[in-house]
Amino acid sequence: MTGFREHRRNHFAEEHLMTDYLWQAAASDLSFLAGLTDEELLELRKLATIFSHEMIFEGGDGMELTEEMCAVISVQASLPVLKLGMNWYSSWNTVVVVPDHIISKRVSTDRAGVVSEWVEVDAGESWHKGPVVYAWPDVIISGRRDGFNVVIHEAAHRLDMTDGSVNGRPALHKGMDLKRWTEVCTSAFNDLTARSGPRRRTQIDGYATVSDAEFFAVMTEYFFELPHVMLREYPELYELFRDFYRQDPVTRLPSHTFAPQLRRM
Ligand SMILES: [Zn+2]
Repeated sequence: MTGFREHRRNHFAEEHLMTDYLWQAAASDLSFLAGLTDEELLELRKLATIFSHEMIFEGGDGMELTEEMCAVISVQASLPVLKLGMNWYSSWNTVVVVPDHIISKRVSTDRAGVVSEWVEVDAGESWHKGPVVYAWPDVIISGRRDGFNVVIHEAAHRLDMTDGSVNGRPALHKGMDLKRWTEVCTSAFNDLTARSGPRRRTQIDGYATVSDAEFFAVMTEYFFELPHVMLREYPELYELFRDFYRQDPVTRLPSHTFAPQLRRM
């Protein structure tokens, strides 16, 4: 069945390939696509065609969506699955785009019964098997090679769900060692936690240390946007991501010294 579905999708993408205008509008400013071969760019364009055709796009909070906006999201969301295929997003069927940052009210009660309330500003949200919500102001600054990419971040959460839980580990390919994945991720997570904080000694966003799931999502942003930073700080982790995504962005992107953008927290 899978083979037939893939064949049908491929046929659809060839027949209805994203137009030159939309492809240019979506991809021309995305510096993190630099270094992809012509074949890879064509494959990305086909995947983005399938993504934008199969995904339900909705505007939230009065947002009016255009074809160009959907294309910008489709192209970026297709990069992580460039060598994996669209089946990896089979539990993802809706994208909601809202005009401003998502304000979430959080409440917690400590052991002494003291209730704390605070608000968090999110660039995006991903609900298990539900829609992904993107804040448009964060979509338009994604893909610029500064380590911040909300489209990739939320897409990574969807991939994380493929083993049945959101735990910072997607379904691993045959031959990949589960124990090694856990050991390398835990070691990098603990090290990054120790090096984040007020006396920051890392170029990687401390938001990665919020949880295992955020670690995988933020590291995926670095893998595709600033792979040299990730390779330098966590080479073993980079290798695992290279094996999972079946891509090696260090070999296609130039190293540079842009300051990584840190998330608003
Ligand atoms: Zn997240």
